[in-house]
Amino acid sequence: MLKAELIERAAQFRSAGDDPDRHLASCPALVLNADYTPLSYYPLSLWPWQTAIKAVFLERVDIVARYEREVHSPNRAMRLPSVIALRQFVKTSEFPAFTRFNVFLRDRFCCQYCGSPQNLTFDHVIPRRLGGRTSWENVATACAPCNLKKGGRTPKQAHMPLLLAPIRPTSWQMQERGRGFPPNYLHETWRDWLYWDVELEA
Ligand SMILES: [Zn+2]
Repeated sequence: MLKAELIERAAQFRSAGDDPDRHLASCPALVLNADYTPLSYYPLSLWPWQTAIKAVFLERVDIVARYEREVHSPNRAMRLPSVIALRQFVKTSEFPAFTRFNVFLRDRFCCQYCGSPQNLTFDHVIPRRLGGRTSWENVATACAPCNLKKGGRTPKQAHMPLLLAPIRPTSWQMQERGRGFPPNYLHETWRDWLYWDVELEA
């Protein structure tokens, strides 16, 4: 059976409760690589509807699933794509981007000194004034009270050992971490392409 047919069959098991009046800004397309895995999880690879439509017309992607929402041109109507797949495989990076969100995710949204999930910010383990860099290996999630208490000292000087030494994670490690923190908004049609255990919010 062709992949397209399998996808069509899988779609029949979904509820058809989608909103035909959905706001266009709320119709991003989930972008899959040519192997039908998301191009990126963190952040989730999403294209605005205009970009998705353009890629469809340039024949760079196949439409895997659609919203009920239609857009109209003078001579045709088209249901917006909700999931698209690249025709050409793109090799993805082995390492995730060094972003604030990804540092929090690596540290499971917990202070790396006391474990608190509240008032989170970032700490330079070796302070900048001592030559500490802003890098995966020297930035750790810290709550504001711990950050204040540690001040411009090293963990040793402050007698505040880290729960885990900060490392540069691989994309695979980040995907494992990310299972616990799925994105807030997930369209029904995206579910088949994300983790098995991803929850769908209404
Ligand atoms: Zn803390």
